[in-house]
Amino acid sequence: TRRVIVAANWKMNGDSALVDSMISGLSDMESSNVEVIICPSFPYLSDLNQKIKAADLDNIIQVGSQTVSKFVGGAHTGEVSTTMLNDLSIKYVIVGHSERRSVYNETSEQVASKVHAVLDAGLNPILCIGETEAERADGKIESVLLSQIQPVIDEIGIERFSDVVISYEPVWAIGTGKAASSAMAQETHYFIRQLIAKQSKQVAANISLLYGGSVNAANCEELFAQPDIDGGLVGGASLQAEQFKIICSAA
Ligand code: 13P
Repeated sequence: TRRVIVAANWKMNGDSALVDSMISGLSDMESSNVEVIICPSFPYLSDLNQKIKAADLDNIIQVGSQTVSKFVGGAHTGEVSTTMLNDLSIKYVIVGHSERRSVYNETSEQVASKVHAVLDAGLNPILCIGETEAERADGKIESVLLSQIQPVIDEIGIERFSDVVISYEPVWAIGTGKAASSAMAQETHYFIRQLIAKQSKQVAANISLLYGGSVNAANCEELFAQPDIDGGLVGGASLQAEQFKIICSAA
């Protein structure tokens, strides 16, 4: 059975006050089959993780980082290693978010190295993929998604790929308020699963495929009801505890 996951990507938003208000806002959250993950910026990882434990929410909510270095340590000013994340008991890492790819020029090969480093450290990678509006208009969705997935499979092998969580985030839906329709998202998730099935039916059947891009309290139910959508990666709506709770309970 596939893991059902709702992850919050705070991006470069929030502060200590948001950590505190999120803890109190989520304090009545009940445990369910949904894995809830919150990914704040690096400075807040430890504080959020400790406060989740102190609030007895650690069996419900996990903490993740938004990116990580592919290097283990050493002279890499400004970077954060998987070893450091492990030291802070952080369990999840978002890798290859479209903003990392487009603004910080991360290539699919670098993303693959990061996924490898994350798995080697015993952490859970959430691999983001997705096409731009122009790529969709040009009929390149399938080749783009393949070009983002295949380097990772080539790097770690198809067996280990089952430990990867994929988040399909069409770039045109991120932060725009224009989520993919549930039918469009389902169609693309189905395509992704088929693409993986060509290499391993078992991995394709068991891998969790999240949807990201303007998920909110109003559209989450229909998106999560699709057979190939196993949860979501939520940006803007994850900054408000009430909205985020609704989204988690819809998964
Ligand atoms: P929004 O939910 O703000 O569109 O962001 C989606 C996203 O990029 C999550 O990683």
